[in-house]
Amino acid sequence: MFLPANYSEFGPLRLHEPLSKWTTLRIGGAAEMFFEPHKPEHLANLLTALENDGVPWTLLGAGANTVAPDGGLLGAVIHTGNMRRVFRDGAGLRVWPGVTLPTLVRTAQGVGLSGLEKLVGVPGHVGGALAMNAGSSAWGIWDQVKEVVLWSPGAVNPQDGLKFRSWSRAEIQPTYRNGNLAGRVVLEVLLDLEEKKPASIKATQDEFLKLKNLTQPVKLTSAGCAFKNPPSDSAGRLIDAAGLKGHRVGGAVVSELHANFIVNQGGATAADLRQLLGEIEQAVFAHSGILLARELIVLPEPLEPRTKAEPL
Ligand SMILES: Cc1cc2nc3c(=O)[nH]c(=O)nc-3n(C[C@H](O)[C@H](O)[C@H](O)COP(=O)(O)OP(=O)(O)OC[C@H]3O[C@@H](n4cnc5c(N)ncnc54)[C@H](O)[C@@H]3O)c2cc1C
Repeated sequence: MFLPANYSEFGPLRLHEPLSKWTTLRIGGAAEMFFEPHKPEHLANLLTALENDGVPWTLLGAGANTVAPDGGLLGAVIHTGNMRRVFRDGAGLRVWPGVTLPTLVRTAQGVGLSGLEKLVGVPGHVGGALAMNAGSSAWGIWDQVKEVVLWSPGAVNPQDGLKFRSWSRAEIQPTYRNGNLAGRVVLEVLLDLEEKKPASIKATQDEFLKLKNLTQPVKLTSAGCAFKNPPSDSAGRLIDAAGLKGHRVGGAVVSELHANFIVNQGGATAADLRQLLGEIEQAVFAHSGILLARELIVLPEPLEPRTKAEPL
């Protein structure tokens, strides 16, 4: 892939970076180019430059909800992990997209701001959490969003000629485990929180963490829940009822502790994951008549590179 020399201004660039290093499932081939911008404005300019040059790109946070393809990714992968600043803003926090959820939760608790307790123990970056509307049961991080600055693909805003602007929660309309970003990219978010005593916030967090540690295989190599819960039921219960706990394809196994978690017990590939997800969907449908919706982002394998001999 040819890139003009000025791409170096957007932050460090690595070539052929293994994605297995950057996803919690430890799966994935190499990213052709791997960028790590330091500031949201670098991220916005990088995205615009890639779009103008026709280079495909993929955003990656902590990779805690992503199955990266065995064949890697063509074009650019942009990892958000270098954009890690949090600012106090009244009774809220203004946060860059690469802040980790554990840092966000700890920071809010430390300054006595409540509202993020249910994110305790959830891995990820803030951008990824907004894309997924990460949270617990009926609550998601979007419940605390006052405004979010998004870069949008396609045309510039007619008003100001910029590719990014602030959006309210009402404009985006996120739903359960779906930030509804439609290809837009989080550059910064303002979270609306409530002042409370740090000790009382800590007590609530401890309760949530205790429950999470008891019911989920948090220490094992996974990407969290594989499927969304259908209305008034639980995907884990349905998978368990279909007799799939311990079911495996290659190194990918349905957790014995929580059937909605798929664990990489060593050497699992993206192909193993895709096959296991398909087998779970079929078995649950056959057993209960419910078609589960995937929560995991399963990125497609790249197309075979075209050789000169092939017709266009
Ligand atoms: C042990 C474990 C426990 C978990 N528990 C929970 C839980 O309790 N609740 C829950 O909701 N989830 C849970 N998860 C899943 C995961 O933590 C969340 O989905 C998290 O929000 C993913 O964030 P990420 O940065 O890792 O996203 P990634 O996996 O890196 O990316 C997810 C999506 O977000 C997009 N994205 C990333 N950054 C941006 C950005 N700046 N702008 C726009 N899009 C972006 C990516 O392109 C991708 O489509 C768990 C995962 C694990 C491994």
